[in-house]
Amino acid sequence: MDEELNVLKSIYLDDLIINYDNPISLNIIIDSNGDENDLDREKRLLCITFIAELPSTYPDLNSPKITLCRPRGLTDEQINELNSLIYSCLESNIGSCVLYECIESIRSKLSFYELPQEACAICLTLISNRNDIIKTNCHHFYHKNCLKSYVDMKKIELEENYQELKKNGFYIERDFRNDIEDPVCRQIIANNVIEQLPSSSSSSSIEQNSNEEHRELIKSLSPHIKQWQERTHALFQQQKEKGGIIDLDKSQDMIFS
Ligand SMILES: [Zn+2]
Ligand SMILES: [Zn+2]
Repeated sequence: MDEELNVLKSIYLDDLIINYDNPISLNIIIDSNGDENDLDREKRLLCITFIAELPSTYPDLNSPKITLCRPRGLTDEQINELNSLIYSCLESNIGSCVLYECIESIRSKLSFYELPQEACAICLTLISNRNDIIKTNCHHFYHKNCLKSYVDMKKIELEENYQELKKNGFYIERDFRNDIEDPVCRQIIANNVIEQLPSSSSSSSIEQNSNEEHRELIKSLSPHIKQWQERTHALFQQQKEKGGIIDLDKSQDMIFS
């Protein structure tokens, strides 16, 4: 077993995480191959986390216990297919080292699926053109233009929140104006993702006078966004009331009811 783990480590390097607990387990995020000549990981759209628990009697007597989790861009049907792929892979390899084969058969299946089958969570339509897709650091994906509109809207909103706090004399502990959350999982979207977004046709910076127009445009985008907006606004108010982002000692003349 140690030998197999060493070989896997030399193939997958830092992508493979081995926990030498009892039992030993390992995990790796498997993504699709993408374009053959395209080694840019960020452009690979489908992925799933592969976890294997290795009983001390593996490989001689027992198979590893394999779990697939955190799928991105895959339908339930495809996930079922991947699970049966693992099952038959284990079945036909009892008594021998099977991890590499499992991982690579999952990868080739992902590459076969290629385009994500989930809808863009912003406009709720399928993404049919690969060039239109952007994947976030948290492995969610959107139409580039949809995410662009969303990011612009969030920037305006954060700027307004920031200015409002400043105007009212609040002490702002940390500049939160670039903390743009992913619409689905609310992780902060990395800068290098935002940099990949198309630059807006009118101006690269957000101008005050175009705010209103832009906001109308985004509001019409989808009810999903609107819901999201209301949620974050409520959250902001809540945080404000609780003093979560505010240093109360430094605020003056504020009345809390
Ligand atoms: Zn979209
Ligand atoms: Zn996300």
